[in-house]
Amino acid sequence: MEERYDIAIIGSGPAGLSAAINAKIRNKKFILFGTNNLSFKIKKAPKVNNYLGFHEITGEDLGKKFKDHIDNMGIKITEERVNAVYAMGDYFTLMVNEKAYEAKTLIIASGMEFTKPLKGEERLLGKGVGYCATCDAPLYKGKTATIVGYTKEAEKEANYVSELVSKLYYVPMYRDSYNLNKNIEIINERPKEITGKDIVEKLEFKDSEIETDAVFILKDSVAPSQLVPGLLVEDGHINVDRKMMTNIEGCYAAGDCTGKPYQYLKSAGEGQAAALNAVEYLDSKK
Ligand SMILES: Cc1cc2nc3c(=O)[nH]c(=O)nc-3n(C[C@H](O)[C@H](O)[C@H](O)COP(=O)(O)OP(=O)(O)OC[C@H]3O[C@@H](n4cnc5c(N)ncnc54)[C@H](O)[C@@H]3O)c2cc1C
Repeated sequence: MEERYDIAIIGSGPAGLSAAINAKIRNKKFILFGTNNLSFKIKKAPKVNNYLGFHEITGEDLGKKFKDHIDNMGIKITEERVNAVYAMGDYFTLMVNEKAYEAKTLIIASGMEFTKPLKGEERLLGKGVGYCATCDAPLYKGKTATIVGYTKEAEKEANYVSELVSKLYYVPMYRDSYNLNKNIEIINERPKEITGKDIVEKLEFKDSEIETDAVFILKDSVAPSQLVPGLLVEDGHINVDRKMMTNIEGCYAAGDCTGKPYQYLKSAGEGQAAALNAVEYLDSKK
């Protein structure tokens, strides 16, 4: 177990990065979870015209500026996915694969997931459906598992899982070349429904189906209510006050996950407010 952090930030988009630079300036001990690619939503933007100070910049170039900024401030991104967070009273425990981190405050800056859950996904969650393949794969030793991967990062998880299960199917929800172990069977079809009476039995496609004991759905971000049990969420967005505090004391949220408009500068501004208010909260507890 690492030493307890002052602030744990989940997400490396503009909201999380802005929170991190402000936490750094205020000399707090923080950890920033995400990816060194920052956010596919930064990379994908063809041209950005509404980020003050950067007229007609491409998303790719804006991302480079963000990366230079945090590099220059010595901020490192911990390239791990937070699977769940538990509010323990005066601190938070973050579950990250087989590790646990502790922090006195939390900033959720995990973005917004647009894709709807698959039919059967919510009903069979915890009964064969899961969002962290590496956490649950040991349960399926000698069995068949399926990974529905929404981003390239899911491929790493698939390669690891393929060493534990007897058979692994990979269903990519994006078009690319796949860097997967040879024993993984790729299915290039859109999943329609996860079926099974009490536990997962099959994954169905338009004209075909496969028998599987587990279906892991690996998206860029999971629904906030699943990430932090007890978090107040309305219409898919995390409820926050003017200080970006959620219904859980010491837990803040910023960026797309708090609601529309979905924009870079709004996200960065909220990340800043969340970090400064987390600092104020930490100082009040001294
Ligand atoms: C094609 C496109 C063009 C756009 N153009 C513009 C534009 O011109 N102007 C504008 O203002 N906005 C634009 N946007 C919107 C903008 O991208 C978003 O509003 C902004 O990226 C939101 O920032 P964020 O920090 O809230 O979340 P995101 O950028 O979505 O970042 C969230 C990050 O958190 C990470 N994450 C999530 N869950 C976890 C977890 N459990 N553990 C670890 N990491 C996690 C994700 O991997 C991701 O990297 C565009 C979006 C798209 C898709």
